[in-house]
Amino acid sequence: MVELTPDLLNQIYARHLDWYPAIKNPETPPVHINGVGDVLDQFDLVLLDSYGVLCRGPKPIKGAVEAIKLMRNRQKKFCVVSNDTMTRRAIAAEKYQQRGFDFSAQEVLTSLDMTDVFLESVKNPENYGVIAPLEHPSNHLMQGMVRLNGCNGLIPEQVDNLLFLTGAGWTTEMQSNLVSSGNRKQFQLLVGNPDIGAPNGDKIVATPGYYLANFAEQTQQSNKPELFGKPALNIFQRAMTEHGVTDPERVLMVGDTLYTDILGGNAIGCKTLLLTCGVYLGLDIEEQISQAKISPDYIAKSL
Ligand SMILES: [Mg+2]
Repeated sequence: MVELTPDLLNQIYARHLDWYPAIKNPETPPVHINGVGDVLDQFDLVLLDSYGVLCRGPKPIKGAVEAIKLMRNRQKKFCVVSNDTMTRRAIAAEKYQQRGFDFSAQEVLTSLDMTDVFLESVKNPENYGVIAPLEHPSNHLMQGMVRLNGCNGLIPEQVDNLLFLTGAGWTTEMQSNLVSSGNRKQFQLLVGNPDIGAPNGDKIVATPGYYLANFAEQTQQSNKPELFGKPALNIFQRAMTEHGVTDPERVLMVGDTLYTDILGGNAIGCKTLLLTCGVYLGLDIEEQISQAKISPDYIAKSL
C-alpha cells in the first residue's frame, strides 16, 4: 500500500490538470456555512461524494446520517456519486445501510457503474490489460482481457489499452514491472477511479489515479486518459439525468476534494460545497484553495 502526504497528493493532481475538465470557478469567494441544511432551499438535487463526506474508511462521519435524514424530511432528492470501482450501486447501497444510511440503489452511482457501460462495448478484449483484483464484480465483462495482477504487472505484447480499475492488491513490485514492460510504447489509457488518493483512517492511500499518473510519467505516455469517474463530467450528467434535473444550477455537489468533486461540479455548472472533514482534515482550507486555484461556492466543516 502506497501512502501519500496531502502535499504530494495535490502535486500529482496539479501535474495532470490537462486530464480533467477546464477549471471554472464561481465568480465570488466561498461562503462559510454550517452544513447542507443552510442552503437546501436553493436546490432540487444534492450530489454527495462518499469518502470524506459520508464516511472515513468504513466509519460514518459525525453528522452525516443526520444531514441525510434532514434532506429526506425536506423531500430533497440526493445521489451519492462515488469513485468506487469495487462496488456497483445496489451493493454500495447495502453497505451504506449497514452504516446507518437508508439509501436505495437509485440514490447511489459509482464509477464502477460507469466503467461497466464501457466494458460492455469492448470488441477486442485481448488487447486490454486490466489492473484490478482477480476476484472482481465485473469479471463477467472482462473475459478475454489480460489481468495484470495475475502476471505480476508485466504487460504482454498484444496489449495496447491499459485500464486502471481498482488498486486493491496492486503492489509496488507490480507497478515497477508495469513501468519496465510499458516503456517501449504508447498505450490508450483508461481509469475507472481517477482519484490519486483516498483518506483511510488517519492516512491517505494511493488509488488507481496514482498508479496511472506514475505510469504515464515514468513511461512518457502522451495520450490523454479516458476517465470514468469524477472529475469527468459523464458521472455527474448521468446522476442528474436519472433524477430528472436539467438545470445544473439547481444542483449542489458536496465533496472533500478540490481536484475531483469541486473541479467537476463547477465545470458542469453545479454549485459546490467543500467539506473540511475529509482529505483536508486539519489543514488550512483557504491555503488549499489558493494553492489549487480551484474554489467552491460554499465551505463547511461537515455535511
Ligand atoms: Mg472524497
